[in-house]
Amino acid sequence: MITAYHRPKTLDEALKLLTQPNRVPLGGGTLLSQGKSDSTEAVDLQLLGLDSLRVNGNNFEVGATATLQSLLESGNCPTTWKRALQLEAPLNLRNSATAAGTIVACDGRSTFATALLALDAKLEIRDSIEQSRVSSLGEFLPLRPRGLITLVTIPLNVKFAFDYVARTPSDKPIVCVAVASWGSGRTRMTVGGFGKSPMLAMDGTASDDLAAAARNACHEATDDFASADYRMDIAATLAKRCASEIASL
Ligand SMILES: Cc1cc2nc3c(=O)[nH]c(=O)nc-3n(C[C@H](O)[C@H](O)[C@H](O)COP(=O)(O)OP(=O)(O)OC[C@H]3O[C@@H](n4cnc5c(N)ncnc54)[C@H](O)[C@@H]3O)c2cc1C
Repeated sequence: MITAYHRPKTLDEALKLLTQPNRVPLGGGTLLSQGKSDSTEAVDLQLLGLDSLRVNGNNFEVGATATLQSLLESGNCPTTWKRALQLEAPLNLRNSATAAGTIVACDGRSTFATALLALDAKLEIRDSIEQSRVSSLGEFLPLRPRGLITLVTIPLNVKFAFDYVARTPSDKPIVCVAVASWGSGRTRMTVGGFGKSPMLAMDGTASDDLAAAARNACHEATDDFASADYRMDIAATLAKRCASEIASL
């Protein structure tokens, strides 16, 4: 339950407010506004100007409070990212949900986080007024340490493919696979659709066996939606589809 609401006008003011352990950043509020038993104070980030979307060299710099829909509609958003963004949430939620809020709240079914993990996105995190650090999404997700995310940096000079299987075309995936391929030959593949976070299945070279790596990522993936055996087969097929899509780009 939110017991107090703060709307700081500067980043320093927000960081000062967030030094109290019972205060949390408020992005779009789509998750925070759902009643919970713990009492928290919300520090609304909307006046901090953290919603910019900017291309900087080979990177797309996405402000923490940029909404998923603004990212989707941005002229700089590569077409290959769009399916993963659309599947994250329906339009009304995408209009409120922010990039950082979605990352912090994501589970393994998050198509946005599955895509960003393949793309090796980096998070700029402010721990205090004096202290900031950059963390890869892969380092961040297992522990989700406290700290204010201010920027999400995603490389644009990377080929990307995403595919999924779900109960209906617009439902969250039962299995999804994202593959990112750099000019150097580096290839990262992630698998999502189950568990607490999407999983990095491979960070290697284009010649590695993507289908085998995708299968391996699903060994323990049994839940109410599907068995591990089913997911292993589907993930291998999706990995092959992504590999051939990347080859055609
Ligand atoms: C009807 C409905 C259905 C939903 N379905 C799903 C679903 O299927 N799967 C799912 O994962 N979620 C779901 N959600 C939850 C929610 O919509 C998403 O997780 C959303 O993307 C969260 O983004 P937000 O900006 O609204 O975050 P908020 O609700 O504002 O915050 C979410 C968390 O992120 C933290 N946070 C926000 N911004 C920052 C920041 N800049 N730095 C550090 N921490 C920050 C908050 O403190 C909080 O812990 C659903 C919500 C609704 C209302």
